[in-house]
Amino acid sequence: VEACIHRGGDEIGGSCVELRANSGDRLLLDLGLPLDSEEGEGAPPASIVGLDGSDPRLLGIVISHSHPDHYGLVDAAAPEIPVFMGAATERILKEALYFTPMGLERTTVRHLVDREPMTVGHFMITPFTVDHSAFGAYALVVEADGRRLFYSGDLRAHGRKPGAFRSLLEHPPPAVDVLVLEGTTISRHDVGVPFTENDVEARLRGEIRATPGLFLACYSAQNVDRLVSVYRATIQEGRDLIVDLYGASIAAATSRDSIPQSSWERVRVYVPQGQRVKVKLTKEFWRVNEIGRSRIYTEEIAEDPGHWAMSFRSSMAVELERAGLLADARVAWMMWPGYLEGERGARTREAFDSRGIPLSIVHASGHASVEDLQLLARAVSPRRVVPIHTAASERYPDLFDNVVAHADGEWWDV
Ligand SMILES: [Zn+2]
Repeated sequence: VEACIHRGGDEIGGSCVELRANSGDRLLLDLGLPLDSEEGEGAPPASIVGLDGSDPRLLGIVISHSHPDHYGLVDAAAPEIPVFMGAATERILKEALYFTPMGLERTTVRHLVDREPMTVGHFMITPFTVDHSAFGAYALVVEADGRRLFYSGDLRAHGRKPGAFRSLLEHPPPAVDVLVLEGTTISRHDVGVPFTENDVEARLRGEIRATPGLFLACYSAQNVDRLVSVYRATIQEGRDLIVDLYGASIAAATSRDSIPQSSWERVRVYVPQGQRVKVKLTKEFWRVNEIGRSRIYTEEIAEDPGHWAMSFRSSMAVELERAGLLADARVAWMMWPGYLEGERGARTREAFDSRGIPLSIVHASGHASVEDLQLLARAVSPRRVVPIHTAASERYPDLFDNVVAHADGEWWDV
């Protein structure tokens, strides 16, 4: 079996790996949008053939998780090309498509299930649940012609599923020939010990305690681990949590009763203006009917803003301000701090500054530290390590044994 990294060998984002078995069967792992492409733009690498459905040997696209840099170009593939992903990923992407410009609605031929091998033509695919900032993320082992490739997808050891990483270390897939390993955190300077989701929770408690009024938490609605951290910190500080309809829908899409749901006693749902309009235009009134008594309006929040922590998006600022909810508010920025830089970042900061809302950054990376990546590589002990999803592939040989880097578009034997 041969492999080719179509994109991602020396960049973070836009990941796509192809496998071609001796029989001619072909399989794509991820088909992501490059990080620097604008919404709705970007095209699959020209080196991928048959995305128009013209090659019956292209047996499918396997999506590792619900981040755009891994699934964002699937819509460019002809609808008859089968797509495989986890059941939760499918539901989450469908919800995202309703609420945001991103997302995906695509019939999934078969769902990935943790450690359950699945045969597709001459390939055997075994998914492994990993800890990542996207819910339901998998690493993938693909076997063909007696060879085995392990694609890490995106993973980490310091989120809310540390057991998933530990189990990979303790029971790694055996006899791996090639480990295609993400290296998002690998850079010229070592970052050291990562800030964990538990650290996020602890830091957040302090921030909430220091807030006399409404506490605003800015995080991605799809970052389910972060929702759990925010919920835990909120409850421990004696407040209740308000999520928006999008966040509530993503939590429901996980189908997991350990994830804070709108039916929980200390979770309420606010439907911001933009989402109210969307529900009306699409006539999907079940979306608001479903949350029922858990729905909260600005009048109730205004009675005692200091009783609440609220999931916040900048599009909500005007209506909350108009309702008088932002006096004595504070905000925690819980996304990549890079979003606060540049021209757009300056506008975001200004939106808080101009309203006198102090901002602090509380964030943990979705990606494994260099040390954890080394632990994984040692546990899997592949014959070769191939860099992907990294801006510093040239550093791999200093960090791992048997590194062979491959240029995008180059074919090589597994
Ligand atoms: Zn990811």
